[in-house]
Amino acid sequence: MKTDKPDKDKSKINMEELVSYCKRRGFVFQASEIYGGIAGFWDYGPYGVELINNLKRAWWKTFVYQNPNIFGLDSAIIQSPKLWEASGHVAGFVDPMIDCKECKHRFRADHVVEEWIEKVEKEQNAPALPTYSESLDVLNEYLDSFKKEISCPNCGKFGTFTSARQFNMMLTTHVGPAEDDTTLTYLRPETAGGIYTNYENVRETTRAKIPFGIAQVGKAFRNEITPRDFVFRTRELEQMEMQYFIQPDVREEEYAKWREFTWNFLLDVIGLSKENISWHEHGEDEKAHYAAAAHDVYYNFPHGRKELCGIHDRTDHDLTSHMKVSGRDLSYFDEASAKRFTPNIIESSMGVGRLFVAVLTEAYIEEEVGDETRVVLKLKSELAPVKVAILPLSKKPELSKVAKEVFASVAGEYNVEYDETQSIGKRYRRQDEIGTPYCVTVDFESIDDQAVTVRDRDSMKQERIKIVELKSYLADKLNLVVR
Ligand code: ATP
Repeated sequence: MKTDKPDKDKSKINMEELVSYCKRRGFVFQASEIYGGIAGFWDYGPYGVELINNLKRAWWKTFVYQNPNIFGLDSAIIQSPKLWEASGHVAGFVDPMIDCKECKHRFRADHVVEEWIEKVEKEQNAPALPTYSESLDVLNEYLDSFKKEISCPNCGKFGTFTSARQFNMMLTTHVGPAEDDTTLTYLRPETAGGIYTNYENVRETTRAKIPFGIAQVGKAFRNEITPRDFVFRTRELEQMEMQYFIQPDVREEEYAKWREFTWNFLLDVIGLSKENISWHEHGEDEKAHYAAAAHDVYYNFPHGRKELCGIHDRTDHDLTSHMKVSGRDLSYFDEASAKRFTPNIIESSMGVGRLFVAVLTEAYIEEEVGDETRVVLKLKSELAPVKVAILPLSKKPELSKVAKEVFASVAGEYNVEYDETQSIGKRYRRQDEIGTPYCVTVDFESIDDQAVTVRDRDSMKQERIKIVELKSYLADKLNLVVR
């Protein structure tokens, strides 16, 4: 079964609260909100775009800059449709779908069954349930055997489902003036496709030898049957994918290495805690037919333990398929062993939206300060949407002048906010709530002593710092290089 039960103690914020917090504080808005929204699409607001850019930068630094043999790529979203025929997406990128004959709503059959199993298992004296798998036959058997118990999630009626059938999730479009089969193309369902077709270009131009990797961050599109759970399951998504090309006989060790690398990235770079992440190994019925091994990292999301990212041993499936359909020879001659082979691939693939939800879930804390509750986002400073806030104590021109000079002295390298409205207490709370690591208060004494007060988000301790030293003080605290 793919979904584990939520661990209530660890979930600090529930999904409803998270969605409302993200809207209220300008992280995420519903796409086309003024027209009633469009299911499965979201817009990242001023703080959201900063946070996702920081997540993507952290991933890129770790995967690309820390490995001399991993190279970046930005391939097109629309590729030749032949690419997706070769990759198997046209024929097989499917999810099981059911309709309710009564209310006409459409659902992912596996989700309906999984949720019912979860509910039943929570009840005392739950009956032993047959083994569950995602195959159409097993799903149909489940839905049929328990038709008096599994109700429609929308209208609540029993026995109203059609049988489960496969639904292709590729979003289509037409390229060129005519709208017929000859111009039909697809919006990529994953970024990896463009990596495989550029394998030879990147290898030749970088003079890389196997093993080496290609990394890409970009948008992908999936016509999810039931987009839900906020930016966890969307129809437009962003992925961070790294494909590592290797010799066939080192698959096991490379697989272990990239599992560990990805795991450490989540713990050390992103700051997720060990208690909230776990491995989920794909069973035979869950694994893609070509994969030799597949592990997902599950995170303890507000809506349960679910997939955050995946590491897959894809064997030589991808390049073999592209060689067959394109007719191009993508085999590799290894000089050291004097052997020719088709490169095998280990993949590490992560969704930006899911990492965004995980990092907010992890960092969002409500704590008691005196007799008040303080909401604070305890993000690592590298990830914080705003690094420093400049807060003059009053709007008086003589103070604004100094405060604006202070702003100018630190701004430019990272996101700095300038805020002179409301009481200082309220402004501190505002910054705590979006995770700003340092607030710089400019007061009337600053005019004479040319110093400001720097407040640390987590300890709330304050320190007086000379304005001329502020830039290097903050750079040091924020772990940045001063220029
Ligand atoms: P799921 O089983 O949850 O549908 P998947 O196994 O199909 O996900 P992959 O094809 O392995 O996902 O995609 C790699 C990563 O991309 C996932 O681990 C996830 O982080 C992200 N991802 C996949 N589908 C979506 C989506 N619809 N919305 C947001 N992120 C997604």
